[in-house]
Amino acid sequence: MTLVFYSQVDNADDWREALRAADPGLAFRVWPDCGPLETVEAVLAWKAPPGFYRQFPNLRLIITLGAGVDNIVGDTTLPPGIPITRISDPEMGRMMGQFLLTCVLRHFREFGTFERARAERRWAYVHPRETRECTVGMMGLGQLGSVAAAEFVRQGFRVLGWSRSPKVLPGVETFAGMAALPAFLAQSEICVMLLPLTPDTENLMTAERFAQLPRGAKFVNAGRGRTVDEQALVQALRSGHLAEATLDVFHEEPLPPAHPLWDLPQVLVTPHLASIAIPRSAAAQIVENLRRIARGDSPLNAVDPSRGY
Ligand code: NDP
Repeated sequence: MTLVFYSQVDNADDWREALRAADPGLAFRVWPDCGPLETVEAVLAWKAPPGFYRQFPNLRLIITLGAGVDNIVGDTTLPPGIPITRISDPEMGRMMGQFLLTCVLRHFREFGTFERARAERRWAYVHPRETRECTVGMMGLGQLGSVAAAEFVRQGFRVLGWSRSPKVLPGVETFAGMAALPAFLAQSEICVMLLPLTPDTENLMTAERFAQLPRGAKFVNAGRGRTVDEQALVQALRSGHLAEATLDVFHEEPLPPAHPLWDLPQVLVTPHLASIAIPRSAAAQIVENLRRIARGDSPLNAVDPSRGY
């Protein structure tokens, strides 16, 4: 089977090596060196441009190199009926859990305050609080979000979780659906977003919803930038309603140098790297899905395009 690889950020050689180790017979091509387009049956891609998939007339499987599929399901030129799978890897969950726990602990232990005070040579004592006195609200309890929520529980925070459908997670007080969102937000001192971008989540965090967070709340977003109204976020930070934010995802990436978020010292910008797919651990499931497709079976970890994630 021929698989074409496309990514501006992932290392093609690492993926070639890992996939060939799992399936020595795999023909691995790196776009634009695809060979005859009609021989391509699978694509492994991160953020391929609109219209990309249409060029392969015999495509049978699309594998997204991450967990988010918004740029694929949002491509109106996508040939219908081709299964889309995501990588579902415990290592990705571990990496996301580690990133979000780092963000939450940094906000909870006031490291932002100390970094800003350091710049002024100012001794800024803040009396530490007990972990259980702080409530962390996790928006998105999926494959990655549930790992992060478990990390917060392990640290002793009071943890709330919000998702589309009801969930039961150890140690997490769960909320489901739009009707439950105001009650969830009102208690989330550190609000962590890890939602997919879908028509329902686009622009979810408006000025009104930021106002529902407790005054002085801290906000983390590692899901997708467009789930947040960025102007409303800047306003909430400027007014002091939000004390701090850590943002890994933005409407426009890279975040443009003139963007007002760069001017706010209480905002930490990270360049969309909370978690990545790791070739060594993800190769086996990709090869398994290629075999399933070759046999005419449905692939594992398929995304439901109508749901958008
Ligand atoms: P999943 O698809 O496994 O889970 C998504 C979660 O979001 C589910 O809990 C789902 O609810 C919830 N959700 C979806 N729509 C709504 C809605 N309308 N209202 C309330 N909850 C909703 O995703 P993952 O946990 O694996 O990853 C989440 C997102 O993180 C990805 O889609 C991707 O965009 C982003 N991501 C970012 C990375 C980075 O480096 N910054 C790396 C990897 C992923 P339910 O449980 O009811 O289905």
